[in-house]
Amino acid sequence: MTKKEIKVAVVTTVISVSGTAIYDFIKEKPVFSSLWNSVKWIWTTVFEFELKLWYFLLGLVIFVTIKRTIKSKKIDTVIIPSEEMIDWLMYKEDTIDSIKWKWDWIKNPVDGNWNAKNIQPICNKCQTKMHLSKGVWYDLNSECPRCDNQYRNLKGIEKIESIIIDNVQRGFYKSKI
Ligand SMILES: [Zn+2]
Repeated sequence: MTKKEIKVAVVTTVISVSGTAIYDFIKEKPVFSSLWNSVKWIWTTVFEFELKLWYFLLGLVIFVTIKRTIKSKKIDTVIIPSEEMIDWLMYKEDTIDSIKWKWDWIKNPVDGNWNAKNIQPICNKCQTKMHLSKGVWYDLNSECPRCDNQYRNLKGIEKIESIIIDNVQRGFYKSKI
């Protein structure tokens, strides 16, 4: 054995012997024993407290989730009022982009949302619903079946629908029904 190895062996023995001695000493002395019990008591209490904290946090998460669900349902009822209150269903024509348009409101049976359908331009000469057609360059044109009046390069139907929906959402329709 080298000197270094002897040193390590001695130190290890001293530590383990003194460790055992200290443990025995603590076990025999009621003061240390009760101190140890106190440590155990604190540990158990803290551990149980953590458990309780965990339950509390879980409860809090469930509570917040339920509250949010109820809250979002409340918002939905505000956004989608009962049908007797939907006065915008009377908003079925408007002048958009210098042209008069007419449409129907159709309720989607799946999601319950209302969509503007059958959006058509109206002839400014004879008030007839015009036929829509795509031009050579995919531009949107319309022609009156009665008086052959024509509109060229109309705004797309999707844009018209977006404007109609926006007018409803922002209340602009009220002055037009
Ligand atoms: Zn016409």
